[in-house]
Amino acid sequence: MKTIAFVDLRRQYEEIRGEIDRAMEEVISKTAFVGGSFLKSFEEGFAAFCGAKHCIGVGNGTDALFLALKALGIGAGDEVITVANSFIATSEAVTMTGAKVVFVDIDPRTYNIDVARIEEKITSRTKAILPVHLYGQPADMDPILEIGAKHGLKVVEDAAQAHGAMYKGRRIGSIGDIGCFSFYPGKNLGAYGDGGAIVTSNDEWAVRARMLANHGRVEKYDHDMEGVNSRLDGLQAAILGVKLKHLPEWNERRRRNASLYNEYLKNSGVVTPFEIKDVQPVYHLYVVKCGNGVREKFQDHLKQRGISTGVHYPIALPNLKAYAYLGHRESDFPVATAASREIVSLPMFPELVRSEIEYVAEAVKDFRM
Ligand SMILES: *Cc1c(COP(=O)(O)O)cnc(C)c1O
Repeated sequence: MKTIAFVDLRRQYEEIRGEIDRAMEEVISKTAFVGGSFLKSFEEGFAAFCGAKHCIGVGNGTDALFLALKALGIGAGDEVITVANSFIATSEAVTMTGAKVVFVDIDPRTYNIDVARIEEKITSRTKAILPVHLYGQPADMDPILEIGAKHGLKVVEDAAQAHGAMYKGRRIGSIGDIGCFSFYPGKNLGAYGDGGAIVTSNDEWAVRARMLANHGRVEKYDHDMEGVNSRLDGLQAAILGVKLKHLPEWNERRRRNASLYNEYLKNSGVVTPFEIKDVQPVYHLYVVKCGNGVREKFQDHLKQRGISTGVHYPIALPNLKAYAYLGHRESDFPVATAASREIVSLPMFPELVRSEIEYVAEAVKDFRM
């Protein structure tokens, strides 16, 4: 029997060990721990990669979202519209600013925000739309930008799972007003600890975000306002700088692995991922739908064959206890609620090989028979 991890970060490190170890030694010998040339060089590289003018390294993806919203002036009394299916960091960041989070149900095919249901949630207090490119699948940005422009709303992208994804020839993260990334180790571009970044082509928001992330200052002790301490450190920046060069190839391998899964899972009974037109997803996760009421058995079946799986996410955000105060019922978000009970994430990472995908697919088909 094989053992197939859900994600294997060790395999990737083995491939690039020399480069990573050299980069870390350099940071330490130059004591460039906070700020410094490694950070600057990564920020420039990542901005260029995203097709944006500015990149600001921050402490993590949650802070990237929080600081982006703050830089746009969003706070108490405002409302931010986001999606019912995501990691809690998305909605947490809204609440952290003092604004109210307003959820929208999902598209049943993509599990991303249902763009047809956004406008009904807009009020006089709405300030921004916060779409998530979940699983590395681009949200349908054109209608979102159109709604944003029509109602004078900002658009902030949660690109924490979509480094390098493309939407109609544009890079995810540089399509809305501000894009936010996480470099949590398991993400497509992952640090060896926590990290995050904000990208934007707007000079004013870039300056504000950078100040807010660094105690509200530009120079050493000239604090124009209060901010927070949320910085991408030198070691993480150097590691990310090495890994950024490999990201296009790693994303390509994820896409190849997804198409192998698609091929092997034909007629298996599970619903494979759906790609909207003219996009290039980067398969942070490969999520299938396994049918109502069988998920636990399905995951057990795979576990017995040495295959680890995950669920992203088992409870839709509005149904979490954390949001009980909003007074939602499950029937308010029928699509997200139904999906949360049927979705399963299969092992997905660039270093996964064909024979392993075949093995997983066989185990999936076995369950169906
Ligand atoms: C990982 C993630 C975040 C938060 O990033 P952290 O670096 O863990 O703070 C936000 N949104 C989504 C969709 C994520 O997957």
